[in-house]
Amino acid sequence: MTRASSRSPVYSPPFLDVISIGFGPANIALAVAFEELTKDLHVQFLEKRSAPGWQEGMLLENSDIQNHPLRDLVTPRNPRSRYTFTNFLFENDRLFEHLNLGLAYPLRIEYEQYVRWVAGFFAHQVQYGVEVSAIEPVIGRGTNMPEGYVVRDKSGREWHARSVVVAPGRTPNVPVVFNGLDSERIVHLCDYLFALDRVRQRKCNPRIAVVGGSQSAVEILLHAHDLGVCEKVVGITRNFGIRQKDTSPFSDEVYFPQFVQTFYFGNDKTKQRLRAELELTNYSSADKDVVDALYVKLYAERILRRNTLAVYRNTEVESVNADERGIHLGLHETITGGRTSESFDLVVLATGFLDIGQGAKREPYPGLLNGISSLLDLGRGYLKVSIDYRVQLAGQSEHAAPIYLNGLCESSHGMGDSGSFSLLSLRSAAIVQSLAEQLARIPSRNTRAQDPDHDLVSGAAG
Ligand SMILES: Cc1cc2nc3c(=O)[nH]c(=O)nc-3n(C[C@H](O)[C@H](O)[C@H](O)COP(=O)(O)OP(=O)(O)OC[C@H]3O[C@@H](n4cnc5c(N)ncnc54)[C@H](O)[C@@H]3O)c2cc1C
Repeated sequence: MTRASSRSPVYSPPFLDVISIGFGPANIALAVAFEELTKDLHVQFLEKRSAPGWQEGMLLENSDIQNHPLRDLVTPRNPRSRYTFTNFLFENDRLFEHLNLGLAYPLRIEYEQYVRWVAGFFAHQVQYGVEVSAIEPVIGRGTNMPEGYVVRDKSGREWHARSVVVAPGRTPNVPVVFNGLDSERIVHLCDYLFALDRVRQRKCNPRIAVVGGSQSAVEILLHAHDLGVCEKVVGITRNFGIRQKDTSPFSDEVYFPQFVQTFYFGNDKTKQRLRAELELTNYSSADKDVVDALYVKLYAERILRRNTLAVYRNTEVESVNADERGIHLGLHETITGGRTSESFDLVVLATGFLDIGQGAKREPYPGLLNGISSLLDLGRGYLKVSIDYRVQLAGQSEHAAPIYLNGLCESSHGMGDSGSFSLLSLRSAAIVQSLAEQLARIPSRNTRAQDPDHDLVSGAAG
């Protein structure tokens, strides 16, 4: 399909410099970096939520954050920025009260306000309520390479840009046994509070199961039980128990900026070893405070001879059936071999997220790249990303319009790339710097549009 005829004086709509998909912490930090490090770039963010927010489905009142508060959206890159967490407290008249709490880790409800506060400064650059459904290349005649991209949303609107940043957060991991089942009553942890509201409208004393042994799993178990209304709250983990996070300061260097280089340039074997060794710094484990709180609660249940809270260990969910009476889980205790079945009104999957790659809990590339899959360098069976977070395209790609991943590169750039705020600010700087360099090499599309000999077509390449 021809986007502009060779006689057309201007394109409609005009090409932006950057279209950035999603406006969660990763892209909010990017907006700050654009403002502080570049000028004159025309950037537009598209966000499917109707307003700014951060993981509202897990905005549990008593939960704290898991990053040092100074490793916020900007401080590690520019501690003098007006967008720091410290300045948020100062401008909101809470600095002394906050410091007086003596909390090492602020409450999530406060940090979420900070994220929204920063997002508010960039409202003029964000269109909310826009769910992007496709990215397609705009191929220059005779080059076979994208000279820009068309980004479409679900209602058919489109935006044209010389580059794209993709930051939708990672794809939730849904274990195969739950695939395609009742999405209202079997939800990923990101939707916990919304699903809880729904189930409580139907039933005042719901039965809730939480699958997984992560920080979020434990937080949900504590939260659901604290409501005091559930008939039962059951945690299900295939592990021997709920594991505690590895908080050794040696291990936590995985969240240092220099670790990105170490990991990125390590060979596959090194990456595998480091991942396995450092997994418990953030995944399949929980902080000591919540593990202890859960253990004490379970003990209190015994004292009171109640059965409203339980953790089934060494237990796999083998089968799932849903009907009007509930979600029926077939459970297999892997040490004794015992098999039972139990019914719930809500099942929450605290089962993590997908990374890019091949094998368990991996996807070859994020779904939003489906429309440009024929352009991707998938030589290894999955997407390659360069150190500056640029998606590698097949063939002579140095003149191609760039496309970046922001917050999806844990398997190439190391733990902490997706699952932590720690390096958001520095990653944003790397992307902005690379983008500015790349765009300087490619003339603005709107200028080129004046050239009657230049014709653009959009659609799948090849
Ligand atoms: C429950 C939970 C708690 C966490 N707590 C911490 C913590 O305390 N400390 C820490 O360091 N890390 C924490 N993390 C990890 C960290 O928050 C995430 O790393 C962070 O949210 C990542 O930001 P993001 O912008 O990459 O993704 P997200 O926060 O997921 O944001 C992505 C945004 O993109 C939007 N979007 C998605 N698809 C589309 C689309 N097609 N079109 C338009 N918009 C789209 C979404 O609506 C969302 O606003 C937590 C993660 C979770 C899930």
